[in-house]
Amino acid sequence: MKRRISITCDFDLAIGKVNLNEIVYKLKELKDSLVLLILKQILMSYDDLIMDRLTQTQIYPSKMRKGLGRHVRKDDAEERFCRGRKVYRRGHRNRKIKTVFGCLDMEVRRAECLTCGARYSPLLNALQVTPYSRKETNVEHEVTEAVIDTNYRRLIEGRSIDISLGGIHNIVVGSDIDKTFQDRIPAEDLSGIMADGTGVKQHKGSKGELRTIIGISQQGRVVPLGSFVNTSWSEIDNAIRARIKETADHSIPFVYDGEPGLDDFLSGVAEAQRCTWHAPRGLYYALWEDGLKKKESQPPIDKVKQLVGIELPAGDFEILKEEDKEPVRTRYETSKKEVRELISTFYEKGYQKGASYLESLSKRLFTNIELWLSTGIIAPKTTSLLERVFREIGRRLKRIAWGWSDAAVTNLSKMILIKQYAKDKWEQYWKEKLGIKGYFNINIQTVGINLCPTF
Ligand SMILES: [Zn+2]
Repeated sequence: MKRRISITCDFDLAIGKVNLNEIVYKLKELKDSLVLLILKQILMSYDDLIMDRLTQTQIYPSKMRKGLGRHVRKDDAEERFCRGRKVYRRGHRNRKIKTVFGCLDMEVRRAECLTCGARYSPLLNALQVTPYSRKETNVEHEVTEAVIDTNYRRLIEGRSIDISLGGIHNIVVGSDIDKTFQDRIPAEDLSGIMADGTGVKQHKGSKGELRTIIGISQQGRVVPLGSFVNTSWSEIDNAIRARIKETADHSIPFVYDGEPGLDDFLSGVAEAQRCTWHAPRGLYYALWEDGLKKKESQPPIDKVKQLVGIELPAGDFEILKEEDKEPVRTRYETSKKEVRELISTFYEKGYQKGASYLESLSKRLFTNIELWLSTGIIAPKTTSLLERVFREIGRRLKRIAWGWSDAAVTNLSKMILIKQYAKDKWEQYWKEKLGIKGYFNINIQTVGINLCPTF
């Protein structure tokens, strides 16, 4: 249906005194209430139209009543839908619905079905507003976005959205985010997987552990794989495995910083690679335990740093000539040899801790180089990207001022990750949730001045 809304506004302007700021300031104040009034007019007009179609069945054939008047049969225990599409008018009922523009308060028409006698509101029905819902989904959307951006306080204080902190919490916990974004990712799309954990404050100051798994796409972008609170690594392992579409001949490097329990994480799907940044740091502690001072441990640490820092040539592996790969192979082999020599030296000098640390490390230090030499995949070598992701989540979680439950932290960290790193998917998710399908459009036709004789 096509209709036109006309808006009449009065304004009073002090000539020679008013500045632009004041005009904009007042218009900003007007914005939400104006849109709320427009909304109300649209709904009232729709309500009238629906009622006409459902009461005047001699004018409107059943085709024109399609999608209208659907209701559950009166006193039907099985809650089956009634086939009746003709109604009597039964007055109005007051209805309040929270919207992003403020609370909509309007009279909604009531109908009584001629077939079964059920009473219902055809408008709410057509709008897909369930009888007990008090707010529309855009509110949920705005609240969620505001929580992610940690300006939810400003949202509550500055906006017409009337929602308590508990209400926000319920929106986050009640979100279906944990059931969505579970599509499977082909292994060959990933150049690496990273995992790490961080502490989060929960109820009454108790400390929980947030564990996040991200993938790195072949283009170097973050692919959120999962967020878990107070969950064992083996459970996480299962959940992540289920999300990766394995291919027999493709192994993804898995980068981690030596967190216990991760040595066999995703084994069979991924090849473990110790973070090359953390590796020298770990060596420092091992040698310190052997009694070495910083001055004495620095040279071997520098050596390890240099050995793991093999640069891979840029460019497509496929078009690289064998002679371009050769220097990498040579350097890889000498580095491996030198690590072995360093281990023997440590043993000779009696640095037991240092030697065994480096020994266990050496099996996983060059995974990225081995992978590149055999497949051409360039894998990330450090978890610094993941640490940046964690800082992002941590900064936001910390600012939210009350103790979160596991479900809330899990959902919120997922939302932060997806909004930040998979923006298109996030927008798609909300469009689907809101049911945006192009069934409503509104344009401003004209805005003009009607000269008023007294002004
Ligand atoms: Zn009926």
